[in-house]
Amino acid sequence: MKKIVMKFGGSSVATGEKIRHVASLVANAAKDYCVVVVVSALDEVTDELGEAAEQAQKAKQDYIQNFKQRILEIHLTASSKAIKDKQVKKEVQQAIEKKVDELEKVLTGISYVRELTPKSRDYVLSFGERLSAPIVCGAIRDLKLESQCFTGKEAGIVTDSNFGEATPLMNVTTHQLKERIEPLLEKKVIPVVTGYIAATQDGVVTTLGRGGSDYTATLLGAALAVDEVWIWTDVDGLMTADPKIVPNAKMLPELSYQEAAEMAIFGAKAMHPRALEPIIKEKVPARIRNVFNPENHGTLISSETMAKRTDAVKAVALIKDVAMINVSGAGMVGAPGSYAKVLDVLGRSGINVMMISAAASEGNISLVVRRNLLGRALSALEIALLGRGLVSDITSEDDVCVIAAIGAGMKGTLGVASRVFTTVSKKRINIRMIAQGSSELNISFVVKEADGMAVVRAIHEEFKLDKT
Ligand code: ASP
Ligand code: MG
Repeated sequence: MKKIVMKFGGSSVATGEKIRHVASLVANAAKDYCVVVVVSALDEVTDELGEAAEQAQKAKQDYIQNFKQRILEIHLTASSKAIKDKQVKKEVQQAIEKKVDELEKVLTGISYVRELTPKSRDYVLSFGERLSAPIVCGAIRDLKLESQCFTGKEAGIVTDSNFGEATPLMNVTTHQLKERIEPLLEKKVIPVVTGYIAATQDGVVTTLGRGGSDYTATLLGAALAVDEVWIWTDVDGLMTADPKIVPNAKMLPELSYQEAAEMAIFGAKAMHPRALEPIIKEKVPARIRNVFNPENHGTLISSETMAKRTDAVKAVALIKDVAMINVSGAGMVGAPGSYAKVLDVLGRSGINVMMISAAASEGNISLVVRRNLLGRALSALEIALLGRGLVSDITSEDDVCVIAAIGAGMKGTLGVASRVFTTVSKKRINIRMIAQGSSELNISFVVKEADGMAVVRAIHEEFKLDKT
């Protein structure tokens, strides 16, 4: 029998009714496949846990008590709606109560020492998935299927101790997942594994970074060499453009891993780029599917040779809330290390650079950063660079956006860039900055934000993406 991993995000398991629906999807798939389930925390619970950890650090006892009651109620309500069988429900609810008591103790501990470390924060954040997984497991058992619940640690996912964004140690993880999870599949037991959380070699709880449940799913998929990893979410799949901007945007039936990574970076509802790593290596395909529309087959993400190479541009994205910085000065021309200095200043200030462009004249470098970081970026650059003979001017524009045209077919296809830019110029819209990496997977450029939507629509039309 074929094997699959089914991962359900927070919005898919937001309520007891939704969890029942998820269980029915699992039961359905279990007729044809050996299934491993990965679940996120109930919608927004991870955010609330983060907030509670902050409040605990400020020794807000009332907050902890109220929070405890609310978290308990949310999960008890969800479980009573999700599970009908009295015995199963009782077991699950007892497990929930026990975990919420433990959570209260952890928060109280933080409030006494008034110290919140990355380590203790991860521990608090882990409760979201530790509470959701037993409910999903119970709902599956309620449908008369055998199911067993695991934390990431119990399943065997081992990471380094980079709390908040831990990296899995692949060899030991693969070995343990095979040892612990594979035998269940042979016995037709459905393992339900908490997404997002794992543990160090010493057993200390870690998290894989926000949105990390996808990563858990692909880790399991790669370790168990499954046939596909299904990422269930609340959209039909990846689209040629944001349907709010382009009403006739179409779903993309197939994408390569590289294209999916580009889309993720540009904020499409794809997987986190890191989550793609394990499955790229093992060539396991992933499929983005809609829980509310399971008839739809979603977007298949697979290796380039498998994903059909259609037209040059496959999708066009708009990235808002960005700002462009221009650093210029004759002193930069022919001076080794001048770009490095600019980037180093930003790096040391913790500012991520999204896009860079520098002309061969070397007299200026343009950068795009998140708009909310613009002030910090400018002051850091000014303090470090102005008046030292290198940089003479630093300017910025905060009313811009980035447009990205994405598609592996662009590689080596002549005239794609010229078609993109001709389309923009026909609209009489000025392009402020351009970047194309030599991977040729995307062309990114900056226009005024007021023109952004018109540009996306025009490119969508020019490349006939509605006929995808
Ligand atoms: N619950 C975690 C988060 O909200 C992980 C996930 O949902 O993938 O980030
Ligand atoms: Mg989530």
